[in-house]
Amino acid sequence: MVEVTLGSTGITVNKNGFGALPIQRISDEDAVYLVRKAYEGGITFFDTARCYTDSEKKVGMALEGIRDKVFIATKTMADTVEDFWKDLGTSLENLRTDYIDLYQFHNPSFCPKPGDGTGLYEAILEAKAQGKVRHIGITNHRLAVANEAIDSGLYETLQFPFCYLATDKDLELVSRCKDANMGFIAMKALSGGLINNSRAAYVYLAQFDNVLPIWGVQREKELDEFLSYVQNPPVMTKELEELIARDREQLQGEFCRGCGYCMPCPVGIDICNSARMSLMIRRAPSQAQLTPEAQAQMKLIEQCLHCGQCKGKCPYGLDTPSLLEKNLKDYLEILDGKEY
Ligand code: SF4
Ligand code: SF4
Repeated sequence: MVEVTLGSTGITVNKNGFGALPIQRISDEDAVYLVRKAYEGGITFFDTARCYTDSEKKVGMALEGIRDKVFIATKTMADTVEDFWKDLGTSLENLRTDYIDLYQFHNPSFCPKPGDGTGLYEAILEAKAQGKVRHIGITNHRLAVANEAIDSGLYETLQFPFCYLATDKDLELVSRCKDANMGFIAMKALSGGLINNSRAAYVYLAQFDNVLPIWGVQREKELDEFLSYVQNPPVMTKELEELIARDREQLQGEFCRGCGYCMPCPVGIDICNSARMSLMIRRAPSQAQLTPEAQAQMKLIEQCLHCGQCKGKCPYGLDTPSLLEKNLKDYLEILDGKEY
């Protein structure tokens, strides 16, 4: 078993964490079954968020009775003190607990600090003093905010997208966190579905002893893969090394990570999927991308108003409308019989 300690929190868990975003899409019964199975298989770190609709409730139901054997991380997107306390109260109730192991500011556009006028950091400190929160973390998709959080010395963990498609700047974040004794929680270790070999994803992250991946799990088959890594952590092989090198070559540069921060689109374009259709169709089972519903979604790109809202919100600085156009062109050619 390989374990990770999340910096100064001292939270030490198996190097496979459970990302509870996808359990929003399954029934209570199936979600409880998955979360319990994860726990029984050796996973003890569960990450959810106030804004993942009913995910917290499902996690709470599943972990009732074993609360002291697991670590629960959740997040708030509150931007006022009032909403902060409201969110925290709701999360505690949903999670059926009186404390949260790691409470994180959820992708704020700035790094909350004492005295910044928002009162948010003061509120989280007060929540810690009251024992409702044990450790304070931050999640982000922006390098600048992540770096500022490290510099501030105010956070014990950083949650950031990290996978084998990482740039040098992402790698620098990981090592800066290590130097600052901050835990690094890797979200999107499968890059939102673009990485289709979880073994390769795991072995890449295995090189970084301060990094805890949280795998977004929705199906039992996916969970079983990760549980097998709890028992038998994969090791680097020549084949995996080659696969990673190939993927890095194919996916380097500007591609949509499917993070959804540019949504909603005023004409209803499903940007997360549509802006990376060319990759999804070639890397994931393609039938799901060619259904009449998927075709109708792609055709919506023709209605784009070029309002620029999406582009302005993309943390990766992508020119989203032109990316959508490129993906539509390729998609229409595929529908016309182009080989892919
Ligand atoms: S530019 Fe197009 S895709 Fe982007 S938000 Fe506006 S309408 Fe939607
Ligand atoms: S275009 Fe940018 S913000 Fe939108 S889903 Fe893709 S990576 Fe995320």
